[in-house]
Amino acid sequence: MAYSASSPSSSFLRSSITSHDLKAPWIRSVRLLDKCLVPSVPRDSYRMTFLVKPVCAELKRSDSVVPFAATMVAPEVEDRIETEDYEKLAKEMGHASPLEIMDKALEKFGNDIAIAFSGAEDVALIEYAKLTGRPFRVFSLDTGRLNPETYQFFDTVEKHYGIHIEYMFPDGVEVQALVRSKGLFSFYEDGHQECCRVRKVRPLRRALKGLRAWITGQRKDQSPGTRAEIPVVQVDPSFEGMDGGVGSLVKWNPVANVEGRDIWNFLQAMNVPVNSLHLQGYISIGCEPCTRPVLPGQHEREGRWWWEDAKAKECGLHKGNTRQEEVAQLNGNGNESAMVTDIFNSQNLVTLSRAGIENLAGLKNRREPWLVVLYAPWCRFCQAMEGSYVELAEKLAGSGVKVGKFRADGEQKAYAQQELQLGSFPTILFFPKHSSSAVKYSSEKRDVDSVMAFVNALR
Ligand code: SF4
Repeated sequence: MAYSASSPSSSFLRSSITSHDLKAPWIRSVRLLDKCLVPSVPRDSYRMTFLVKPVCAELKRSDSVVPFAATMVAPEVEDRIETEDYEKLAKEMGHASPLEIMDKALEKFGNDIAIAFSGAEDVALIEYAKLTGRPFRVFSLDTGRLNPETYQFFDTVEKHYGIHIEYMFPDGVEVQALVRSKGLFSFYEDGHQECCRVRKVRPLRRALKGLRAWITGQRKDQSPGTRAEIPVVQVDPSFEGMDGGVGSLVKWNPVANVEGRDIWNFLQAMNVPVNSLHLQGYISIGCEPCTRPVLPGQHEREGRWWWEDAKAKECGLHKGNTRQEEVAQLNGNGNESAMVTDIFNSQNLVTLSRAGIENLAGLKNRREPWLVVLYAPWCRFCQAMEGSYVELAEKLAGSGVKVGKFRADGEQKAYAQQELQLGSFPTILFFPKHSSSAVKYSSEKRDVDSVMAFVNALR
């Protein structure tokens, strides 16, 4: 069957899904291609000049396609190892149209790329994807706190494009713990980051671990404080893709250089359905308690988290936009040790105090080996490995290996550098049972399997 992005009806698509498909999480259900090696990159190098080796899928557009989920699966691709300099590509494509950028992204990554759809005017991305004539996937984060209009809009979009959106949901246990301990509206009191981390960032991280690239609707004019410099394509500065490690995910921003009014002109010209909240004065649309309409002349981001500092208005999905120094400043006048929400929170993890880690490091014979991460909660690389490390702690619970964390920024930093081999955050150490010296994990791959292999080699 020859593929056409606009031709398959939703009923046809739905009927093509097997019961096996329905049981599998959509975002994880991608075909795993041969992994490409990702070169090791210094963790503290924020200027992303990496040469990454993505899937490099070159589609054969004449091949037949079996539609899958929303979401049309690309035809069989010819794997081809290629090294790409995304900084250079971003410069080359700086003046390309959104359609050209979308086409390049879909061509390059095949099934391993998906559009992140928020339920707002980023529906333009889906329209551009359709116009390329290539198969494409769409995912969305259902935080459980969206407006009814947004859910309605998701349904409209699915029917309009004949797709199934691959929804990602927050972890029920984490949501329960947050709401039971802090209530339903804690974000009005202690900031949106904690709730966003549970309801958005972690589900997003899970989604991205099944991909090699993603497509966002970020635009430079959306937030002068955080989005003024986004390129049309970049190595994702915060999240990891399926190969794991920093540099394993590519982020495409096809409308980075487009102004909001031009997006609206495009949507109107193409007769694209839009979220009915826009007619009520909403521009930027997020969760119901954290989004409100804006008045004419107000910036669209003023409708989001309006009770917080304007410069900090990123929910964590694009936290790489906020420079590390700015994060530190926002968290307390440049003092990195200022109070920020802690990370690596799990009952399977021991929080070590300075006395605790000194004691552990000084033991000649330990009753059991320990794995300890030296971290700073504001560090984006620590945040990026949070999910993996918590999962690892769960796996190691009851295995005889203790898992801990030691916050090593601020006044603990000098000690950690001198005594605990801290170079940059995060640093992972293994304290063997019968040895006084700790072994440092030197790889940039911090996915569960890689760190587990390290532990198993030493335990
Ligand atoms: Fe929670 Fe608001 Fe963030 Fe939604 S936008 S996840 S409700 S803090």
